[in-house]
Amino acid sequence: MKFDIITIFPEMFDGLLSAGVIKKAVGKGLLEIGLHDLRDYTTDKHCQVDDRPYGGLEGMVLKPEPIFRAVEAIRQPEKSITCLLTPQGKPLNSRLAERLAGFQQVVLICGRYEGVDERIIEYLIDQEISIGDYVLTGGELAAAVVVEAVARFIPGVVGREESVRHDSFVSGLLDFPQYTRPREFRGYRVPEVLFSGDHKKIASWRLKKALEKTLARRPDLLESRQLTSEEEEILEEIKSERKES
Ligand code: SAM
Repeated sequence: MKFDIITIFPEMFDGLLSAGVIKKAVGKGLLEIGLHDLRDYTTDKHCQVDDRPYGGLEGMVLKPEPIFRAVEAIRQPEKSITCLLTPQGKPLNSRLAERLAGFQQVVLICGRYEGVDERIIEYLIDQEISIGDYVLTGGELAAAVVVEAVARFIPGVVGREESVRHDSFVSGLLDFPQYTRPREFRGYRVPEVLFSGDHKKIASWRLKKALEKTLARRPDLLESRQLTSEEEEILEEIKSERKES
């Protein structure tokens, strides 16, 4: 799949592309990332992308013409979605990331200043996306977050797809705790069950730990999830253990 990112600061994506999973995915041809400088889609000699807001206020707003021109030049006719990064958008979550991974092309528009002319939102954008209830100075870091979150759902990008399946939120629960060598560090020991060699017992311990963490930190996730009978049983056990302690 391909991300096409429209920005006035393409150089801000150097870090994303120069290391880690995204660099590897691009190298393997699993992912393409096109960076498009919004100024290349201006027609005036100053390459002006912004202007003062009508009605009078401080700050500047990204003009409609360069963004419309850029999207119309870049957008592919099929299986493409055009997204705007904005704090007013749909909060990015695992489900939205997985849905975006189903497109052949995701166009990401990075806002700046006071945001973009509203006609872009009304007539050009398919999906507005927010990465959280706070305001950044531009959409570039938010776009990089979207690329990372979506890329994990593209087959082959993460070495072991199994590890994506039990990631926090993908299964509808927070991930279970992980341990590695050494077995004992400063007297802190790794739980014995992980050395038992009994895969069923380990899976059941992991499920219990995932449920414990989710119940303690994000009970809202449990409310919106259809629990299996095994999960319900373990949850009851956790609740009665909590009452006793
Ligand atoms: N005045 C706008 C508002 O209150 O909705 C905020 C503009 S913000 C300073 C500039 C740009 O940063 C936005 O157009 C958007 O592209 C990006 N941005 C800021 N916060 C964001 C967030 N939480 N999620 C996604 N994009 C964000």
